[in-house]
Amino acid sequence: DVVDVSGVPAWFAEQLREEGIESLYPPQAEAVEAGVAEGESLVASVPTASGKTLIAQLAMLSAVDRGGKALYIVPLRALASEKREEFSAFESEGVSIGVATGNYEDSGEWLADKDVIVATSEKVDSLVRNGAPWVEDLDCVVADEVHLVDDPNRGPTLEVTLAKLRRINPNLQVVALSATVGNAETLAEWLDAELVDSTWRPIDLKKGVHYGQALHFGDGSQRELRVGSNEKPTEAIVRETLAEGGSTLVFVNSRRNAEGAAKRLANTTADGIDDDERRKLAELAEETRGVSDTETSEDLAACVEKGAAFHHAGCSSEHRSLVEDAFRARLIKVVSATPTLAAGVNTPSRRVVVRDWRRYSGDVGGMKPLSVLEVHQMMGRAGRPGRDPYGEALLLADGHDELDELLDRYVWADPEPVESKLAREPSMRTHLLATIASGFADSRAALLEFLGRTLYATQYREGGDGNDNLERIVDSTLEYLDRNGFVERGGGIEATNLGHTVSRLYLDPMSAAEIIDGLGDATGPTVLGLYHLVARTPDMYELYLRSGDREEYTMLAYEREAEFLGATPSEFEEERFEDWLSALKTARMLEDWASELDEEAIAERYGVGPGDIRGKVDTAEWLLGAAESLAGELGLDCVGAIREARKRVQHGVGGELIDLAGVRGVGRKRARRLYDAGIETRAELRNAEKPVVLAALRDREKTAENVLEAAGHRDPDMDGVTPDASVTPQSR
Ligand code: ADP
Repeated sequence: DVVDVSGVPAWFAEQLREEGIESLYPPQAEAVEAGVAEGESLVASVPTASGKTLIAQLAMLSAVDRGGKALYIVPLRALASEKREEFSAFESEGVSIGVATGNYEDSGEWLADKDVIVATSEKVDSLVRNGAPWVEDLDCVVADEVHLVDDPNRGPTLEVTLAKLRRINPNLQVVALSATVGNAETLAEWLDAELVDSTWRPIDLKKGVHYGQALHFGDGSQRELRVGSNEKPTEAIVRETLAEGGSTLVFVNSRRNAEGAAKRLANTTADGIDDDERRKLAELAEETRGVSDTETSEDLAACVEKGAAFHHAGCSSEHRSLVEDAFRARLIKVVSATPTLAAGVNTPSRRVVVRDWRRYSGDVGGMKPLSVLEVHQMMGRAGRPGRDPYGEALLLADGHDELDELLDRYVWADPEPVESKLAREPSMRTHLLATIASGFADSRAALLEFLGRTLYATQYREGGDGNDNLERIVDSTLEYLDRNGFVERGGGIEATNLGHTVSRLYLDPMSAAEIIDGLGDATGPTVLGLYHLVARTPDMYELYLRSGDREEYTMLAYEREAEFLGATPSEFEEERFEDWLSALKTARMLEDWASELDEEAIAERYGVGPGDIRGKVDTAEWLLGAAESLAGELGLDCVGAIREARKRVQHGVGGELIDLAGVRGVGRKRARRLYDAGIETRAELRNAEKPVVLAALRDREKTAENVLEAAGHRDPDMDGVTPDASVTPQSR
């Protein structure tokens, strides 16, 4: 019984068989029944790890086989490369794959001849705004993790993007993959799609709660689990699982907790590994240390040595894949993770422990319970089909009342319905402007008609209230966009030049307004002033103020008062001032980075991980690029200063090193060493004598050669011979 689906090329069945997939899982068979391989739109709401990807592949490959083009939308950039990897086997059969990443302004024309394109919803939205011509050629669109339409920050983009794609091609096949949610039929109604709503799993999942000296399962059964007197429950669970030859995934609610738990659990795993594993883990720890010269790297390596690891969004992507691979290979026995790992990364494990079921929430200013949907997604990572008899997912209770509460709240409960968040102000601002600028609507009526295709409209159509509400929000948003010069309202509605630019730059209009206001009367802005300006836009997540920070940054605000752009809120406007100070903290971190402070020193000073620094640096670089375009558009004379601030943050160097740091393979540390050795520019590097370069780069022969070659040095082997400057690449 092999996979044989009409419409899907035969080689695909062959590839599946090689992977050990011989027949369809029941939800996959239902999807085929519903016509997913014949161009039918489909919502598949099935549990984590039940084979959603294959459903998507059947749709995409049948579309390509009919001569069409498919798009796979992922929720996270990190998942784009993972999916690309998964689809790469198609290339030997002539199906070409492209990943759209990189700059938002890029229109991605090179993707026009790819059969399958992988991109995040933000990237697709931006490609539509920038008029990528191939968008019209799409026949099949897959939306992965579509339950994320419920997410206040990212959901609206996915919602609007799907509405736009369906407007461009009314016959578009939409395949929406979702975790089990409470209202899958509403999603199907929104997308005019068939529905597969299933709870089937390839391996049994036993959900339960640990309390006292026992595991209490949802089916009423119990099993003893002895917790030693100097042990925590998680440690006992990890110890027991390891003794049975299995591994454990522990979900916690913060990065700090992930690191703390891994450190402690490493003592448990250290007792359960054999000599051969110890040797392999030592090698892996070495590799981990080699990734970067930071405390996180050192901490992770120390855990890995003992068979444990942590995984969170503050880790670098190299660290994350090292951990994921070693966990899948069963070398690492326990991973403590924030929920990023539950979202899509395929890392099953014998047991899952959801240690923290509450998380700090800024909205409520305290701890808030996780949703059933989130907890079930984490739990769904338990059990490796074909390897374990069943998976076990556990919550931890520290009292009898909590035992009952957790059973009620998560073990026996069904996941919540998802709810559109489109009506929130920031999403409305951004998406209304983009909808107008890219020509989807040229009047209030047309806008409302367009919004009628969203999930929001589907969900609130019945009551009538929803429509009134929608109209009200549309009107106030239009008013805002008009007041700030992004749209013009006459008979209809049109985007101004500025509005077009803002939409193409992928900025929140409020960020653009803040930047324009700040740059307005700027004369000779400093880097701190510019970093602060972009750090206080809604497009930058600011660093939190910790205890003591308020005083420190208030002082700094007075000391450097002259450098800030735009209006400073008064200290008595508590909330606004607090925000402004958070932005100052963020700005000073960027300034430290652009002043060549060590990554480790920055991590220490601001209490952040290397991944956080990278994230802020990338966002600042993007926002400063946007500020540069806006200043250019408005004919302001601070364009040069913004460019310098951008290049400094991009490379993490002082102004005098920008030129050198731009040479491939040089980077901030090497640029400084070369500069100190008297080589101050790219041109000087090109003409430098190799021994000088070699000495500056601490005798690393290979590095020196690569760097010289990248700088356009004529012949790196011509020791001591100065090449003729007239034949360097720049002069040709
Ligand atoms: P989901 O996206 O639903 O979380 P995946 O698509 O990642 O789940 O599938 C989980 C695992 O199941 C993958 O390792 C995949 O290779 C495997 N799988 C999918 N379909 C089948 C099948 N029909 N038979 C056997 N294994 C399958």
